[in-house]
Amino acid sequence: MLHKTWDRRGTPPIAVIGAGIAGAWQALLFAKAGHEVTLHERDNDAMTQATSHWAGGMLAPWCESEVSEPLVTRLGLRSLALWREHAPDTPFNGSLVVAHPRDRSDFERFARMTSGHQRLQRDDVSKLEPSLDGRFREALFFPDEGHVEPRRVLPELHARIRAAGGRIEFGSAPETTHIDGLEIDCRGLAARDAFPDLRGVKGEEIIVETDEIVLSRPIRILHPRWPLYIIPRERNRFMIGATSIEREDDGVSVRSTLELLSAAYAVHPAFGEARIVEIGAGLRPAFPDNLPRIAIDKDHIAVNGLYRHGFLLAPALAELTLGYVARGEIDNEVMQCK
Ligand SMILES: Cc1cc2nc3c(=O)[nH]c(=O)nc-3n(C[C@H](O)[C@H](O)[C@H](O)COP(=O)(O)OP(=O)(O)OC[C@H]3O[C@@H](n4cnc5c(N)ncnc54)[C@H](O)[C@@H]3O)c2cc1C
Repeated sequence: MLHKTWDRRGTPPIAVIGAGIAGAWQALLFAKAGHEVTLHERDNDAMTQATSHWAGGMLAPWCESEVSEPLVTRLGLRSLALWREHAPDTPFNGSLVVAHPRDRSDFERFARMTSGHQRLQRDDVSKLEPSLDGRFREALFFPDEGHVEPRRVLPELHARIRAAGGRIEFGSAPETTHIDGLEIDCRGLAARDAFPDLRGVKGEEIIVETDEIVLSRPIRILHPRWPLYIIPRERNRFMIGATSIEREDDGVSVRSTLELLSAAYAVHPAFGEARIVEIGAGLRPAFPDNLPRIAIDKDHIAVNGLYRHGFLLAPALAELTLGYVARGEIDNEVMQCK
């Protein structure tokens, strides 16, 4: 049940804590729905403490269905529509999945486990991505998937929140007890005081720069250990990601570096001459089942556990939270009410 002070006010003021991708979407949809919203972020606007800063930014519900529960696909598909509606400049160029002949069985398995793709032969691959001309005999093309650049889209979402009348306070980490109205806790991994079962899953990434390769969409290369990918970014840059390791330090190992760079080199040898711009790691906030959770306790709502799908799931989770606050709607698959 909603807290009684909400009923008196009708639309309570909303304090969203944490301006990563989860909090940004919550603040945006509540501000657009006419609520008085303040988004608090302990970091400055560079947001380097956020896991979101380190992400690939792929919006890939079909590719991810290979390793994810149906819930992730359901919310992911809804999120694609919300990205299109609220951030219409989001690129939807699709994703391409390739494999080397030795990983042929992984390729066929991926094709079986996923839907929403077209099988492309060598010539079609070259037409879609001329830089890959002749390099892959076959590929799977997922035409409706998108990708965003996290370090550009976060400030863009923050600007949209302000345009919708919301306020953003950087360098602000308010005590829960000092919040008047409804609190939406989107602190990611920092919320372990509230969720002892939350853990960090390390993802290592490398950004390189080369003007010898041009890509228009994320390329996933099937690999026996990790689903590795190369995502084109602005200024001839490419993010190569990402490992998935059950550790909570943010160091990057030599082994991971070798594997990430080898994967890129295997996609195109010109990556061998690319300049390394950054090597880094982020910790994905995950519950034991690797599924997202909206935990409701009177006027405190927590949205967490976005794991490897924060950019994919944040819009749909924000819509569900808004549906609960505005109309009392409960989604039993995602919400836990105290
Ligand atoms: C290498 C890598 C690649 C990834 N690739 C993808 C991808 O391609 N697609 C995808 O969908 N997902 C991807 N992810 C997953 C995605 O990054 C996460 O799911 C997502 O960033 C989690 O977002 P969040 O908002 O919950 O947490 P965060 O981004 O960590 O945001 C939490 C924010 O809360 C702030 N905060 C904490 N405590 C307080 C406080 N007390 N007061 C105020 N502010 C506070 C923090 O400073 C932080 O800014 C990737 C992750 C990694 C590491």
